[in-house]
Amino acid sequence: MDSWTGHEVPRLPGTGQPLALFDSARRAVLSTAPGEAATMYVCGITPYDATHLGHAATMITFDLVQRVWRDAGHRVTYVQNVTDIDDPLLERANRDGEDWVVLAMRETALFREDMEALRMIPPAHYVGAVESIPAIVEKVVTLVDGGAAYRLPDDSGDVYFDVAAAPRFGYESNLSREQMLAFFAERGGDPERAGKRDPLDPLLWRGAREGEPAWAGGPLGPGRPGWHIECASIALDLLGDSIDVQGGGNDLLFPHHECSAAHAERLTGVAPFARHYVHAGMIGLDGEKMSKSKGNLVFVSRLRADRVDPMALRLALVADHYRADRQWTDDLLKTAEQRLARWRAAAAARAGRSGAELLAGVRGRLADDLDTPGALALLDEWADSALAGAGEDASAPALMSTLADALLGVRL
Ligand code: ZN
Repeated sequence: MDSWTGHEVPRLPGTGQPLALFDSARRAVLSTAPGEAATMYVCGITPYDATHLGHAATMITFDLVQRVWRDAGHRVTYVQNVTDIDDPLLERANRDGEDWVVLAMRETALFREDMEALRMIPPAHYVGAVESIPAIVEKVVTLVDGGAAYRLPDDSGDVYFDVAAAPRFGYESNLSREQMLAFFAERGGDPERAGKRDPLDPLLWRGAREGEPAWAGGPLGPGRPGWHIECASIALDLLGDSIDVQGGGNDLLFPHHECSAAHAERLTGVAPFARHYVHAGMIGLDGEKMSKSKGNLVFVSRLRADRVDPMALRLALVADHYRADRQWTDDLLKTAEQRLARWRAAAAARAGRSGAELLAGVRGRLADDLDTPGALALLDEWADSALAGAGEDASAPALMSTLADALLGVRL
């Protein structure tokens, strides 16, 4: 499916630093060390609702990964999916008496607009679940034939992955079995489903149901794919047996990413599936996580309609570290708007302190697990001094503007 239109990313003098990121599996900040080609897979939206600030914060995190890699000279191949068939989409379409296809198309289109407004570098491949079904079926069949998956002993046609076929299961999330069971139940799993070998076994293929869309599944029979195998399949087909970064919000760590990795590793025999599992924090409102169930979503499109500058939105969402669960407040946005105005004024100054030093400083902060608060502090300091008339580097204001665009995606 089509991605969105990108903006040109300006080139900066010299080369950026190697990017270190926190890996959820090894629980440490470690160098990503990709080769000349860097690969990243980020879990995209299920398009039953508009892009909220939690999605935007996650997407900005991985946009920064891409920017820092590119600045360090890597050729980045970035894949993002859109889960354009799954239970939440059908539930919402049923609730609103709407065709699920129309709903998915409309919300995906809105997501693309939001991404473009936020100046996100588009993925090389933007891939839907529906268009990937034949490839997913092939992999589920391979898992069944290899003894890693089984059909439930009822007439549902449902096929599950056997977690016993993944001896390292749990290495990514580092959770106890009790914690896994709790998250599994909370986040779309079905531990109580009768006939499963292990309560944690995830769904690979859902047999056709009355009133639900279904696709040909060859030997699996008609049905539709599970979510974890969808991402594993798309990533393997487009990026190879192992990737540099698998990314998403921290609510995807378990079961989604753990299961995707287990599927992929069983299919390829290559472990780990991702050399870094990277997770962005949640955005909350009034002390609660922003989520559809709480009904407290703040939508990017709503803020855009209220004439909020998308660049201020970006700055607000990187004011704190990407891994922190954090709160959205009016003050956060107001501070970001003031910062943006100050930076824009400073970019138009006659001169400033050394642009080369500023660039080296910002590169250093971002390379260290995307320390955006540190990078913003350096830019604030530089801007304040330029506005106060300090510094003699006449090329610094232009360089400051270029680096804000290239490294932070903030156009001044
Ligand atoms: Zn995913």
